Amino acid sequence: MTETTADIVILGGGSGGYACALRAAELGLTVTLIDEAELGGTCLHRGCIPTKALLHAAEVADTARESESVGVHTTLEGIDMPAVLKYKDGVVGRLYKGLQGLIKSRGVNVVAGRGTLTSADTVTVDGTAYKGRNVVLATGSYARSLPGLEISGRVMTSDQALTYDQVPGSVVVLGGGVIGSEFASVWRSFGADVTIVEALPRLMAAEDAACSKVLERTFRKRGIAFKTGVKFANAVDNDSNVTVNLEDGTSITADLLLVAVGRGPRTEGLGYEQAGVTMDRGFVPVNDRLETNVRGIYAVGDIVPGLQLAHRGFAQGIFVAEQVAGLNPRPIDEEGIPRVAYCEPEVASVGITEAAAKERHGADAIEVYEYNLGGNGKSQILATAGFIKLVSLKNGPVIGIHMVGSRVGELIGEAQLIVNWQAEADDVATLIHAHPTQNEALGEAHLALAGKPLHAHA
Ligand SMILES: Cc1cc2nc3c(=O)[nH]c(=O)nc-3n(C[C@H](O)[C@H](O)[C@H](O)COP(=O)(O)OP(=O)(O)OC[C@H]3O[C@@H](n4cnc5c(N)ncnc54)[C@H](O)[C@@H]3O)c2cc1C
Repeated sequence: MTETTADIVILGGGSGGYACALRAAELGLTVTLIDEAELGGTCLHRGCIPTKALLHAAEVADTARESESVGVHTTLEGIDMPAVLKYKDGVVGRLYKGLQGLIKSRGVNVVAGRGTLTSADTVTVDGTAYKGRNVVLATGSYARSLPGLEISGRVMTSDQALTYDQVPGSVVVLGGGVIGSEFASVWRSFGADVTIVEALPRLMAAEDAACSKVLERTFRKRGIAFKTGVKFANAVDNDSNVTVNLEDGTSITADLLLVAVGRGPRTEGLGYEQAGVTMDRGFVPVNDRLETNVRGIYAVGDIVPGLQLAHRGFAQGIFVAEQVAGLNPRPIDEEGIPRVAYCEPEVASVGITEAAAKERHGADAIEVYEYNLGGNGKSQILATAGFIKLVSLKNGPVIGIHMVGSRVGELIGEAQLIVNWQAEADDVATLIHAHPTQNEALGEAHLALAGKPLHAHA
């Protein structure tokens, strides 16, 4: 059976797929959006939103625990995990309802079911063929494990951890990237003993080395243990606990093991290769128009090599809709995509690291300035340590901003404008930042880089 042909058939209704559907419909295109689960995908149901709700609950717990330091007497009586989960589910539920309403109001044809690409212009669901003048692959990603490490019982990924209805006494977190660090932060705030195991030499290894250093120092102070530069060997689930053996001969026993070793593309068995789409280790390579090697087949989101972030998926989805509508959108600059880890302390960055800038432009061509949050009034009020680091071309634009400290994720908005609009330190130094805000620290950093430091040493 064949349904009528749509301008765009989208396989996968996560961040990338639904953003594409909404923008395409807005532009007057006919859209079929296929998903086998709930619209909103990983980000809304098992990713960004639920984790940030848990992190907010964790921040409230820390505030209650530390309130003595500002003269307010409270006692943290405990964490009611079912109630925390209810709060988290409430947030997700409201957003999900809103998304469903939006999709409906734009007239998108939503098809529930598992789709496979059966030819270059057709996705088939339960025997019904949906033809598209253009097809967008947006099937997202899944939590990876390691060879021989089965996800069951006490060994879980973020999917199971998000519905775990107790605070574990102790946890080993395998992987010190963004997802691992965020869960480590939540569980520590809720009172668990946490140990992170990371094979690379530092936590959050994709970020500027200076950010990792402060993150590690602060985690240590918070009582989050970590072992870096050491590989996982195997894990034994003993029913009442799990023992994690490492290649350095040591082992750690804990109540849970969270496996946070990255996310793989969900592309297997979906007919992509058979339809002629070139694949690279399961990912779908695209050109700067986000088109695959097959004309009329596009790919967006986590299946496209690069940063696996929801806002990248949104931007790519919008891009493809505009491309198909003939608007000739400007290609997405991957380096200009902001990155935030919402653990305590937060790590936020945009543009390239100091090491990458040195490699690309040569050490003599760049300038680096690190503004310590110790000089920032609002950060003192919040009792947070950290810094804002600027990486700039000499007499040229700022090409990287790297921040660490409580709540610095909220500063990424201005930081990404600076980098993406290729502002120079002098340009930003003329902008007046409200006092006392943490945002002001960005202004101060640029004042200093422009040679006129205020609350900072030259
Ligand atoms: C724990 C966690 C925390 C995260 N936190 C953040 C964060 O704070 N900020 C951020 O930017 N990103 C975050 N991410 C990443 C973010 O969730 C992803 O980058 C984003 O969801 C990718 O969007 P996508 O559209 O590519 O895929 P997905 O959101 O995975 O959506 C893919 C959709 O395709 C559907 N699908 C797959 N195969 C088929 C098929 N054959 N037929 C029909 N439907 C199919 C799925 O059901 C799913 O709905 C987080 C991820 C995790 C796991």
